[in-house]
Amino acid sequence: MGDFSHRKRVVFRCEACGGVLIKRTSYLSHRYLRHDTYVCDNPVCSASYTGHTELTAIASPSGMPGARPSELPEAPAYARNLALKAYRAQQLNQLDLLDEPPANTDH
Ligand SMILES: [Zn+2]
Repeated sequence: MGDFSHRKRVVFRCEACGGVLIKRTSYLSHRYLRHDTYVCDNPVCSASYTGHTELTAIASPSGMPGARPSELPEAPAYARNLALKAYRAQQLNQLDLLDEPPANTDH
């Protein structure tokens, strides 16, 4: 999909002048819903826009012990991320074992 060699910052552009829109204010109207105001960076134009950002799904579970389960639906990638996380944790455990000094056997 994307051409990573020409990666740009993901920003909104002013529809009037093409200037970069700068986020000015935000407020949460819901735990998962944030409203934002954007102002055009061009001082002559200074058009402003409003929009929102919403969390719609959980894509990867928390690694915190005893984390509360998410109330959001699972994203399509959730099962794969869960498997990846378990795989990485397993690899970390193996590295820990390698780092441990030899077990003391005379007790
Ligand atoms: Zn503008």
